[in-house]
Amino acid sequence: MNSSSRAQDQGDVIEEQVRTDRLHQLFRQSFSAVFGSYLGAAMLCWLCWDRFEHSVMLVWLVLLAGASLLRLKMFMDWFGCPHSERTPARWERRYWITLMLSAGIWGAGALAVMPSDDRVSQVLVMLFTVGMSVSAVSCYSAYRYMTLGAMALVLLPCTLWLLFQPSSMQVGVAIAVLVFSTFVVSATRKLSDALEKAFRLTRQMEQAHTISTHAAQTDELTGLKNRRAFFEHAQLLYTQCRQNQQPMCALMLDMDHFKYINDTYGHQAGDQVLRQVGGVISASLRQADVSGRLGGEEFAVLLPNTSLETARTIGEQLIESIAGLNAEPVQGLTASLGVALTQGNEQDLHDLMNDADQALYRAKSLGRNQVVVAQ
Ligand code: GH3
Ligand code: MG
Ligand code: MG
Repeated sequence: MNSSSRAQDQGDVIEEQVRTDRLHQLFRQSFSAVFGSYLGAAMLCWLCWDRFEHSVMLVWLVLLAGASLLRLKMFMDWFGCPHSERTPARWERRYWITLMLSAGIWGAGALAVMPSDDRVSQVLVMLFTVGMSVSAVSCYSAYRYMTLGAMALVLLPCTLWLLFQPSSMQVGVAIAVLVFSTFVVSATRKLSDALEKAFRLTRQMEQAHTISTHAAQTDELTGLKNRRAFFEHAQLLYTQCRQNQQPMCALMLDMDHFKYINDTYGHQAGDQVLRQVGGVISASLRQADVSGRLGGEEFAVLLPNTSLETARTIGEQLIESIAGLNAEPVQGLTASLGVALTQGNEQDLHDLMNDADQALYRAKSLGRNQVVVAQ
């Protein structure tokens, strides 16, 4: 994969995370709106009990209760489902539909209950619809289209009706509401943009942190752990094995006559060999093992819960695989390897690595291309 398509992929990942963050924000922010919108309608009906048609009021409240229950059920499903399933693809549509249903019932119902000949009730209804639509900004700001959709459905039926009434006061109220709404509409853009930017920055920082942490722990040439990361992980593993009273083995591997390889075939060919050796090591190990390049052409492996016999076999397979590498133009690659087992008692990780290093030194002095087990 080239670097521009990798950057493109990372950008796509961030965009998907930002979308998911917005969805989570939407659910967090709007739970109370389910009750708030119903309470608003109920309060309006209570205030205007003597002014509204009772049967219309009842139908409105019943329909609104149905829509609110649908939304409540959606929230319950959301809280009950595993985190991994809370994705925009799964939830955005359902949220949008239930929200539009409940906002539509709210706005149409407000128009239906509003008596055409009672100015006081009309002002009260307008007060509540404006209040409801402004609350939409605080509840759905993570999604601008949801905020605008909910506002329009709640506000427009009554406002448009008033706009076409003969009295100039009614028309004036409608115009005032429309003018105020344009301010709110422009505020929703700024709010949702700011929110999206904050989510994106957070995700970009997280990604940068992950990349830099990985880079700080990884040997660039081989992809194995570098010296520092190896010893950090090795220490944890060592302590763990100690606590569980499990045997642990260390392998130290050093390429034979590597200086000769560099001198004969060039440094780049040497680097290519090191990459291949790194590949052999990571392909031969188990999930729980820890390996790293300690420097130059020297590698180390820790094998938790492993007997000396198994460790020796693994070491022999490793140098066999290295000898079998096709590293054109380099010929006759070999490596030497020292194996040591934890002794218990007063030993620590560095004693174990020292033992493996001594064994490696003996493997070198015994003629290289072999595994030697520490005494
Ligand atoms: P021995 O069999 O005794 O281990 O001999 P050797 O030549 O492998 O050992 P020595 O320690 O003398 O040389 C190690 C060489 O590894 C010297 C150095 O140039 C080379 N080397 C160290 N790091 C790198 C690297 O990152 N890339 C390449 N290509 N060579 C490296
Ligand atoms: Mg060497
Ligand atoms: Mg060396």
